[in-house]
Amino acid sequence: MADYDTVLVRFGELSTKGKNRKDFINRLFRNIQYMLRDFEELEYRKAYDRIYIRLNGADHEKIREKLQKVFGISSFSFTEKVEPTMEAITAACLRIAENSGAKTFKMITKRHDKTFPLRSDDINRQTASVILKNTGLKVDVHDPELPIRVEVRSEAAYITSEKIAGAGGYPAGINGKVLLMLSGGIDSPVAAYQLMKRGLNVEAVHFASPPYTSENARNKVLTLAGMVSEYQGRMKVHIINFTDLQLNIYKTAGDPYAVTLMRRMMFRLAEQIAQKNGCIAIGTGESIGQVASQTLESIACINDAVRIPVLRPLICHDKLEIIALANKIGTYETSILPYEDCCTIFDPKNPVTKPTVEKAEYFEKMFDWQSLIEAALADEETAVVQPPRNEESFL
Ligand code: ATP
Ligand code: MG
Repeated sequence: MADYDTVLVRFGELSTKGKNRKDFINRLFRNIQYMLRDFEELEYRKAYDRIYIRLNGADHEKIREKLQKVFGISSFSFTEKVEPTMEAITAACLRIAENSGAKTFKMITKRHDKTFPLRSDDINRQTASVILKNTGLKVDVHDPELPIRVEVRSEAAYITSEKIAGAGGYPAGINGKVLLMLSGGIDSPVAAYQLMKRGLNVEAVHFASPPYTSENARNKVLTLAGMVSEYQGRMKVHIINFTDLQLNIYKTAGDPYAVTLMRRMMFRLAEQIAQKNGCIAIGTGESIGQVASQTLESIACINDAVRIPVLRPLICHDKLEIIALANKIGTYETSILPYEDCCTIFDPKNPVTKPTVEKAEYFEKMFDWQSLIEAALADEETAVVQPPRNEESFL
């Protein structure tokens, strides 16, 4: 085993400069510390283009698993930190080669400290010749089994043979706030994840219809919110009692237009909550064609009810792709728990697939939805969820 004692975190291509770059790194630094908050032994250091985490004996596998969830990291490596001298660098490279069990290797050096006496090529050549002399490994520059990476910096050199892909994206929270409509289904938690990956801070709104929807259904939504909040820290969830609006819609519009009207009301409520809470857009888990309310015509008719931008990260995803993502982020099993949500209870038999704004407005003129919206907003409840410190408690 190599003596990996330090994780080196890379941020990838930052198109932003100056203050934005500083914000990016500061936020990433905080997000990493948050993700690794259970590991008190870690020590952190941030530099212009890297973040370093001293492991102090922490479990590599657990750290790897957590770091792979932090948005804004392009890649990271467990490295051995040594003195920035050729003796120390060569010894570490040789140790890694000897313990690797590989047959071929390649040296890849980056000399960030331009005052270091040897150039990258020379460092590659010198370390490679020591490895060739002392081990059975051969050089393969095209497809080496063991790429040995050396980063020479003024304070230390970092040696590693692995480069782990990060989650990519932007550090959650640097790109503004969005209000996601969160149901208990499969799609919207995945949408939350996608929005966070673009650096957005996600707040959620959930529409519940008690007593038609149960306490279990509501808790399921909060559990899902807690699960995805891991990617950003904590999440505010607004819970809106939708029962009166829903009953009035069914009384007025009847079957085919009920879902259209319901969704126009949800969007109107979301728009107001977004504006009140500094959210610049609303988000949904909609995907073209998935159900009657997600035909292009339906989406257009529903969207007509609001002016705020609507982000739909899953719009072109197939259900199977969404399920794969839900499995990856761990929400799938919870999402498929069979608790009723407000749409399944008032499930119309023949929802219109090509609704028009004129027809929707025709039905909306027949009842005082404005007052019902006001009442629903006045009755709002807010919860703040956090991922439990110990993930087992999700089960
Ligand atoms: P999901 O799997 O996320 O429930 P779905 O395929 O069941 O989505 P719909 O029920 O048509 O689709 O809902 C589409 C989107 O509308 C959801 O992804 C979600 O963003 C929002 N939405 C639906 N129901 C609710 C609700 N009760 N509360 C908040 N948002 C909702
Ligand atoms: Mg749903």
